[in-house]
Amino acid sequence: ICNACRYCEGFCSVFPAMFAERSFTDSSIIQLANLCHNCRGCYYACQYTPPHEFAINLPAALDEVRYDSWKKFSWPQGFANMFDRSGMIMVVILACSLAFLFWLVNTFIPEEGEGFYAHMSHGFMVMIFLPSFLLPLIATGVSINRYWRYIGGKKMTLTELWKASLEAITLRNLKGGHGDGCNFEDEDRFTKTRSALHKMTFWGFLMCFGSTTAGTILHYAFGLEAPYSWYSLPKLLGVPGGVLLCLGTGGLAWLKTKADPNLGVARIWSSEMAFILLLFSVSATGLLLYAATGTALVEWFLPIHLGTVLTFFLVTPYSKMIHGFYRMAALVKNQTRSG
Ligand code: SF4
Ligand code: SF4
Repeated sequence: ICNACRYCEGFCSVFPAMFAERSFTDSSIIQLANLCHNCRGCYYACQYTPPHEFAINLPAALDEVRYDSWKKFSWPQGFANMFDRSGMIMVVILACSLAFLFWLVNTFIPEEGEGFYAHMSHGFMVMIFLPSFLLPLIATGVSINRYWRYIGGKKMTLTELWKASLEAITLRNLKGGHGDGCNFEDEDRFTKTRSALHKMTFWGFLMCFGSTTAGTILHYAFGLEAPYSWYSLPKLLGVPGGVLLCLGTGGLAWLKTKADPNLGVARIWSSEMAFILLLFSVSATGLLLYAATGTALVEWFLPIHLGTVLTFFLVTPYSKMIHGFYRMAALVKNQTRSG
């Protein structure tokens, strides 16, 4: 129907890619689904939505296919199925039990370092966090590699990669084609709120990641151990990054409560919300920990923060976090098609 209608051609990258096809295979539909940003513009513009007999609901249909594709290509698939069934419960149980384990270590294994290391040794944290970072990273790599091969991804040029990165960073597909934004939280009214909150979350996350990386380089390359002063790179990136991440994820959670669940996959609403709230908890507890530096509260905030961070790493390949990797791959594939 869309191929005949073509009304939404300029809305996003999905329609030009769709109109380039003469027939649709599973892989082309999965690629279209991962190009879709669920802006919902095509739903409110469409004359064939319910109660019309065609009952077109493209955002929900693509969301369903997109979500199923993440599960199909995930590794190990059993974890993705578990997260699908009970994502919210998994996140809560994991975060609470890991925080409790960190609290036990903090309470019963005395340390003699400075700052946070007075509560937990650097060696212990590396022993826990290094494999917990690398294993989910490998699982994510396997998943994206399976997707890339399934959709017939080929070698890309640097120009194609650059163009796709620009599309991802600027969230071009959330602009509705005219620059007025998307129709996510307020029915057919266009707003730029979701795009702005996504950008805050994205940059906040990158700055927090940059802060941890800077701390690691200072520690291993220059022998400078934490705690760092407020004007050091880890603090200059980490504190504003944490604030941005808090505001971005808090705002996205609020928007999700306002959006129509029927324009997405309603059954995964709670697991998506669980992930957003987990990311919010990571940033909020990180800021609280920073504010509590030098006080007895560190003893409580440190295990809670580490519990949320470790949970975040472990669920990354099976949670909403994976959408960033798939979206980037889909945008690159789209560039190789049109470029
Ligand atoms: S979503 Fe509706 S309006 Fe848009 S191209 Fe398809 S049929 Fe046409
Ligand atoms: S929901 Fe938005 S991004 Fe997805 S197909 Fe419709 S217009 Fe494109």
